[in-house]
Amino acid sequence: MANLTESSTAGEAKNFLLFHMDSTEANDGVSEEPRSTVNPGLTKEQAWNVFFGAIIQKEDNEPIHYLALRNMIREFGSYYDDGSPEEEITNQMTCIGCGLPPDQIEEYIEMAREEGTTPKQIVLTEEGTYNGFEPGRFYCTSCYIKAGMPIVEEGSA
Ligand SMILES: [Zn+2]
Repeated sequence: MANLTESSTAGEAKNFLLFHMDSTEANDGVSEEPRSTVNPGLTKEQAWNVFFGAIIQKEDNEPIHYLALRNMIREFGSYYDDGSPEEEITNQMTCIGCGLPPDQIEEYIEMAREEGTTPKQIVLTEEGTYNGFEPGRFYCTSCYIKAGMPIVEEGSA
């Protein structure tokens, strides 16, 4: 994923336009074609063709006039997927030792049942190691013992 900016290159703009190619068509495929935001005299598809026609003549590493980029962003929004992998979700609420989430760890399931809440909520409110070592993560009791019962330092994580 990436964002088009006013200093993007022709190659980036190409990827951007290709990503947004489908958004030029009516959602249901039968309604009237959507109009261009930048130039309401054109359909979105025609606007797309104008943009792409200008950019295809440039080398990928060539800069583009920022006004052209600004118009493309107005037309399609700045977001596009350039094929790079999504940022990995690092803040999963899992045990640092076994990697399991609270609802797969027996002790939290049991406590949650007793207190009429969810295992996740138990970890949030009762698990002292939560956020203590890694943001959003914790040690379940058996992993905590296996890890040598590390001490949560105030102000860490
Ligand atoms: Zn564990």
